[in-house]
Amino acid sequence: MTVPWADMVREADALGIPVTEEHVGQFEAFATLLAEGRQLLNLTSIVDPEEVAFKLFLDSLTSLLGLVEALPEAARVIDIGTGAGFPGVPLAIMLPDAGVTLLDATGKKMTWLSGAVDTIGLRNAYPIAGRAETAAHDPGWRGQFDVAVVRAVAPIAVLVEICLPFLCQGGQLIALKSATRTETELPEARYALQMLGGRVASVMPVRCDQLPNRVVVTIVQEGRAPRGYPRRPGVPATAPLIG
Ligand code: SAH
Repeated sequence: MTVPWADMVREADALGIPVTEEHVGQFEAFATLLAEGRQLLNLTSIVDPEEVAFKLFLDSLTSLLGLVEALPEAARVIDIGTGAGFPGVPLAIMLPDAGVTLLDATGKKMTWLSGAVDTIGLRNAYPIAGRAETAAHDPGWRGQFDVAVVRAVAPIAVLVEICLPFLCQGGQLIALKSATRTETELPEARYALQMLGGRVASVMPVRCDQLPNRVVVTIVQEGRAPRGYPRRPGVPATAPLIG
C-alpha cells in the first residue's frame, strides 16, 4: 500500500502541525501493521491509501489543534475507545514526552494493539482493555489525566459522562467530531456538562479539503465529577444525561 504521506504532511503543515520524516516513518510502520490486521480489527472500510493518510492519521493529528492550554511536561493523555489506536497512536508518535494510555472495551483489539506498539517500538503508548465506566472509578485513573482524546465513540453528552472523570482539574477533553453532529449534540450536552463540571472551551473547524465537515471540540474540566459518575457500564449510552 502506497500511502500519500507527502500530501498528508503538506496538509498537516498548512494546519500548523509540523510532521517530520521520523514521524512519517513511524506512521508508515503502524499503517503496515494495520493493513495486515484490518480484518480482525473491523477496519475493512479503510483500505484506500488516501483515507489512511487523511481520515485516520491526519484526522487524529487534528486533536493537537484542540489544546486550549499547553501540555504540561510529561503530560498524561488517555484515548478513550481507541479501537485500533486512533487518535492515540499518532498522538503518542507526535508527543514522545507524553504518556498515552489507550483504553478500549474490546480485548482482542487491545491484544493486537499491544503487539503493534511493541513492534514499532512506541514506548510511550500503553494499551489497556477495559470499559471507561469502570476504569474511571479506579483511584489510579480517576482525575489523573491532563488530556482525554476521543473519536467516533459516542454523542457528546455520553462522552462528557464517560471521559471527564478521568481528568484532573483544568484537564482537557478533546473530541474529534463531525460538524453536523456537533451542532445537535452540543446543545443536548448542556445538562451533562453541568452535572460533570465541564465547560465548552472551543469548537474549532478543521480547515482542510480532505477532512470536510470536521471539528475539534474542547471541553475543560473545571469542577470535579460527582462520585456516582460515570454510571454503570452501558447506562451512559442507553440513558444519556440529556435534560
Ligand atoms: N477511536 C477509534 C475507534 C472508534 S470505534 C477510531 O476513531 O478509529 C469505537 C470504539 O470505542 C470501539 O472499539 C469500542 O470498543 C470502544 N468503546 C465504546 N464504548 C466504550 C466504553 N464505554 N469504554 C471503552 N471503550 C468503549
